[in-house]
Amino acid sequence: MPSAAGEARETTGARARARVGVLSLQGDFERHAASLATLGVEPVRVTLPRDLEGVVALVMPGGESTTMLRLLETTGLRAPVEAFARAHPVLGTCAGLILLGSGSEGLPATTFGVLDVAVERNAYGRQIDSFSAEVQAPVVGGAFQGVFIRAPRIRAVGAGVTVVATRNGEPVGVRQGEAVGLCFHPELTGDLRFHRWFLGEVAGLPLPAAGDATSGAGGAAGAGGAVAGEAR
Ligand code: GLN
Repeated sequence: MPSAAGEARETTGARARARVGVLSLQGDFERHAASLATLGVEPVRVTLPRDLEGVVALVMPGGESTTMLRLLETTGLRAPVEAFARAHPVLGTCAGLILLGSGSEGLPATTFGVLDVAVERNAYGRQIDSFSAEVQAPVVGGAFQGVFIRAPRIRAVGAGVTVVATRNGEPVGVRQGEAVGLCFHPELTGDLRFHRWFLGEVAGLPLPAAGDATSGAGGAAGAGGAVAGEAR
C-alpha cells in the first residue's frame, strides 16, 4: 500500500520540481539559488541536517573553508553532509571545492576527500587575490568566464579524476563520479552553463531546453545555451 506522501508525489508526477540543496552556513546561497531556480529546480537552503530530506543534489558554495569546517561541526551537519556528498551529486565552488578535496594546509579539520585532489588555499597571493579570467571547459561548450575570489589552486589530481576546466593548462575544474569542484564562481556571471551541466549531465535531472531556461540570463548564456544543447 503506497503511503499518502508517495501518492502525493505520484499525482504531482513530472510537475514536481527536483529539490537541490545549497549549503548555507556562510557564503553565497542567493546567487546559487537563483541559478538553480532559473534552470527549473527548487533550491533548498541547507542549514540543519533535516534540510537534506528529499534533496537530490547539493551545491557547496564559496566562503571561508576554515569557518565552514568549524560551522559544519557546531551545527551537526558534518556527518550528514559528508555522507550526502559521498552518495549524491555535489557541486563545490571555491571553498566548497576545498571541502570536497583530499586536503589543504591550515584547516581545522579533515576535508571530505570525495574529490581526489590536493588543493592549495589562497594560492594566487594577496595582490591579485581576486580576478576574472577565461577558462576552457569543453563540457560546457568551450570558453567560460571564471570569477576567482581568493581562489584555491588544484596542485595534484588523482587517477580517478577528470579535469573539466583549465586555465593556462592548469586544472581549475574537476569531476570524480558525481562530485564536481570548481576553483571559480560560476554563480556570479549570469552564465548558467556550469549549473546546467551539473544538474543535467552529472545529476541526470530533466531540465527545460537550453534556450528556454538560459535566455535572458545575461553574459554568454545565449551562445552557451546553444552549445550546451548540442552537447546533450
Ligand atoms: N579563500 C577561501 C578559503 O580558503 C576560499 C575563497 C572562496 O570561496 N571564494 O576557504
